[in-house]
Amino acid sequence: MPTVSIVKCGDYDLEKVYHAIHKSISLIDGVDKMVRPGMKVLLKINLLSSSQPPERAVNTHPVVVKALVNIFQKDFGCDVYIGDSSGSVKNSSTFNAFRITRINEIAEETGATIVNFDKDQYIDVHNKDYEILDKFRIARTLRTVDFVVSVPKLKTHGLTQYTGAIKNMLGTIPGNGKKNVHLIAPKPTVFAKALVDIHQMVPPHLVIMDAIVGMEGNGPNAGQPRKVGLILASKDSVAMDTVASAIIGFEPMAVPTIRFAHQRGLGVGELDAINIVGESIDGVAVPDFKKPSSGAQDFAGKYLPDFLLALMFDSTCSTFSTVNHSNCTRCYECVRNCPAGAMSRESGKVIVDKKKCIGCFCCDEVCDFNAIEMKRSLLGRTLLGMAKALGVENVD
Ligand code: SF4
Ligand code: SF4
Repeated sequence: MPTVSIVKCGDYDLEKVYHAIHKSISLIDGVDKMVRPGMKVLLKINLLSSSQPPERAVNTHPVVVKALVNIFQKDFGCDVYIGDSSGSVKNSSTFNAFRITRINEIAEETGATIVNFDKDQYIDVHNKDYEILDKFRIARTLRTVDFVVSVPKLKTHGLTQYTGAIKNMLGTIPGNGKKNVHLIAPKPTVFAKALVDIHQMVPPHLVIMDAIVGMEGNGPNAGQPRKVGLILASKDSVAMDTVASAIIGFEPMAVPTIRFAHQRGLGVGELDAINIVGESIDGVAVPDFKKPSSGAQDFAGKYLPDFLLALMFDSTCSTFSTVNHSNCTRCYECVRNCPAGAMSRESGKVIVDKKKCIGCFCCDEVCDFNAIEMKRSLLGRTLLGMAKALGVENVD
């Protein structure tokens, strides 16, 4: 039975965060035996945005990163590496993400090594048990270190409803490779299966979730920061996502990444089969945490068979992008990042070709000016109306 520890942590004071992470790790059996002095430890953080500061709650908070560096350097005697590839494909974006979060300063101070996955060597991995992605490219450092710690942020996600430990491993794919995943897997539930394929090939040894301040509403980039006040730890990413999503009011087995990973035996997605230590879910739950869209998790729940869940989920979560021209600064970051070639410039304005748009949220993820509005399909709007009429709460 996997263990997930839940520890309260009220804010980003370094000492408090250090103690909370320390406690969360000590509650998980056997981590001290897995990590030995001299090991190379990679912190695979979540740096979606290259321009949003830590208080926006888009990226893993730098204080969480600093506390982890201290723990693995000083307490375990390890060499620490900090790595990710950000959401944008622009050459400088991951570099800028390390700068805006001040994680480059933490590295300078502590002697930890920054690994910009976009500049790393890469290796091709093959997944013989794949559902969607049989092969893809990851940063080589993932295979040269001894121990990988995934450090996701607790957030909602317009495409996958929830983003946490399983989805965090998408960032192991450098730059443009992430665009290809969207092209191969354009529907929300197909994309979720592709994320599970990736996670299967690069499972972390340990997950520490930054749930001190999460993001609710239109995550992962345009939502609102929301205090949750927690650090979570587990060796099982699926169990971690199950517990974290339940804390913010999701039905875990209706979140496609959790459901598919559980079905494939990659971890445990059923709350009853998880050993929860520290705080209880009921004691820390934030049930009014705002969801990004679709009432699927509320009125479909875990009892629907896969094909009905997929139908419901893909209908309610299918969206297309539109541009709010009064907010748009014409930086064209979205145009560069659209994997489907659905965005272009016309007389300086950004235009979206609705027929080409696959609703992947890549433009929304990189727009820092709240100028992208993801619109639901007609069927999605109808189903949302029905959900609201039935009294489903906390959906936008
Ligand atoms: S929509 Fe956003 S990302 Fe695209 S050009 Fe406008 S401001 Fe830039
Ligand atoms: S317009 Fe936006 S949502 Fe549509 S395919 Fe391009 S990046 Fe994805």
